[in-house]
Amino acid sequence: MNFNYHIPTKLLFGAGKLNELSLEVLPGKKALIVISSGKSVKENGYLDRLINILKGNEIDYVLFDKILPNPIKSHIMEGALLAKAEGCDFVIGLGGGSSIDSSKSIAVMANNPGDYWDYVVDGTGKGLPVQNRPLPIVAITTTAGTGTEVDPWTVITNEDTNEKIGFGNEYTFPVLSVVDPELMLTVPEKLTAYQGFDALFHSTEGYIANVATPISDAYALKSIELISKYLPICVKDGNNLEARTYVALANTLSGFVESTSRCTSEHSMEHALSAHYPKLPHGAGLIMLSESYYTFFASKVPERFTAMAKAMGVDADLLPEEDRAISFVNALVKLQEVCGVRNIKMSDYGIKKEDIPKLAENARSAMAGLFAMDRYSLSLDETMEIMYNAYK
Ligand SMILES: [Zn+2]
Repeated sequence: MNFNYHIPTKLLFGAGKLNELSLEVLPGKKALIVISSGKSVKENGYLDRLINILKGNEIDYVLFDKILPNPIKSHIMEGALLAKAEGCDFVIGLGGGSSIDSSKSIAVMANNPGDYWDYVVDGTGKGLPVQNRPLPIVAITTTAGTGTEVDPWTVITNEDTNEKIGFGNEYTFPVLSVVDPELMLTVPEKLTAYQGFDALFHSTEGYIANVATPISDAYALKSIELISKYLPICVKDGNNLEARTYVALANTLSGFVESTSRCTSEHSMEHALSAHYPKLPHGAGLIMLSESYYTFFASKVPERFTAMAKAMGVDADLLPEEDRAISFVNALVKLQEVCGVRNIKMSDYGIKKEDIPKLAENARSAMAGLFAMDRYSLSLDETMEIMYNAYK
């Protein structure tokens, strides 16, 4: 047993916690607030609440409100230029994973020369060392999906090369994060399901990854248990604050999993899909791949699958030994049925079956790093087989 543990984020967790942000010492005097191009953080009043807290603490701010659901590199460069021009000394990501991820990448580029892809390690990224510390990052999450508020990772698409790649280092952890489930009550049914499954897969992948540690295992199994139990309630009754709180906790735990273990090739394959078809929500792409992906891996790491089945409430010990690992996949499919996302299809988003060889190669080159986290090393043919079997 041999591992490092480093999660340096101060976390304010619980209903009503956004108000407590006013009591915190923020890491600067002028913030770049990063939000999406959508309306929700404005219409729900979250942006006004944040601005009032900043004003009350005599902190100046500039707003950057262009981030897309699948965030793109040109917006990172534009946001970083704005932060430099305005003299911002920290960044606040307010919203879902795309806004918070973008705030991390903008924080890197606001303090470093060149192009963002100079520093990206996978794909056509140059992998140059990041010379200067990024600006400090504050994250206020309004969804339960990515865990990005407590992990160092940010996922950005290079729209010129169709590469969607994760990046991060020990300085891209937020210094301070607010997880307030009251802000999540307004998330619509479909998005609640997509994001909940993204959190689930961060935990399941982190649990079957070859770099899992005893600490990530504990976080992952608890997170899987809570999502199985409470996500269906959130999807049916978005105003149920108790269920929202448990799913928010499961999501934060999945962020801890990503900080102490890693995602696996399921995420590489999904990034290929949503890099080429940006209208496809990340969580939906993962759901489409999942039955095929986990069916393939069930026989490769059966003990880990049996433990995940148990976390989902399956009495696996009562099953014949050969059925235990696959009972996780059955429970996963059932959860997708209950959450109303069982029948979403790649073809609904314009993905064609004949695209799969190209998408499989993109996954393996752009996000090769996560293929290296699998306990069984997939060939190109096997990658395509998983994607063909997932195709509907
Ligand atoms: Zn994800």
